[in-house]
Amino acid sequence: MKPFLALTIAGSDSGGGAGIQADLKTFQELGVFGMSVITALTAQNSLGVHAVHPAPVSIIEAQIEAVLSDMGTDAVKTGMLYDGAITEAVAWAIGRYGVPRVVVDPVLVAKGGSELFRREELDALRTKLLPAAEIVTPNLPEACALLGLPDGALRTRRDMEQAAIALLDFGSRYVLLKGGHLENEEEEAADVLAGRDDGPVWLSAPRIPTGHTHGTGCTTAAALAAYMARGYPVAEAAAAAKAFVTAAIRASFPHGAGTGSLWHGA
Ligand code: PLP
Repeated sequence: MKPFLALTIAGSDSGGGAGIQADLKTFQELGVFGMSVITALTAQNSLGVHAVHPAPVSIIEAQIEAVLSDMGTDAVKTGMLYDGAITEAVAWAIGRYGVPRVVVDPVLVAKGGSELFRREELDALRTKLLPAAEIVTPNLPEACALLGLPDGALRTRRDMEQAAIALLDFGSRYVLLKGGHLENEEEEAADVLAGRDDGPVWLSAPRIPTGHTHGTGCTTAAALAAYMARGYPVAEAAAAAKAFVTAAIRASFPHGAGTGSLWHGA
């Protein structure tokens, strides 16, 4: 039997909680064969990002070419792309190979505040990669950056619905706007899914009182890609991904002196 396949194009997290490592753990847990294209190395642990080293565009292109020209994939997830040149190369390769289901996690800043993408090159994400995406998965700060709004501008569920609909204009078929950063919500972590042809729907889970949330964005997008590789329609994949990340947060554990780690095998 041929297994389902998913490819992550993202940065490495030496601490194992986010990036490539979170993606591959998630793929494996969800019964999908994971492949990886590494765009950048990061030295990080529970205390934060200590160093970032982007890979040359040529080796990123070579990794994508090696995987897609031979093995193929049922879905792609993109994460940390570091700058405009890498973003353009990834968008071009995805188009060239006609990858069927593309999940774009527009990674900009780590929760600790380290920049994982060059802000001044954000247009490459907006104009080259988002049109190739079946779904894009920003959190609130990333949505503000993409829309050119000041940080903190999205404060209510109504703001979130409007922002999700506005983000569709960049060309993806769906937007999953994640509300984990919404400050006045104490009971629930609510995300909104907007589609070009479907009205916005809300996905909610109880808010889990923990600081161990490093890697939740990567894990959500990877779970979405895994379920989409398995053939789930987007709305069902988004609901299943939400359940997966909620279980991973619930099972997170203290790890190092700072932010603990998610447990992807919950
Ligand atoms: N490191 C890498 C390589 C990532 O891709 C990401 C997030 O997308 C992070 C770190 C940041 O993780 P978090 O903001 O969840 O701490």
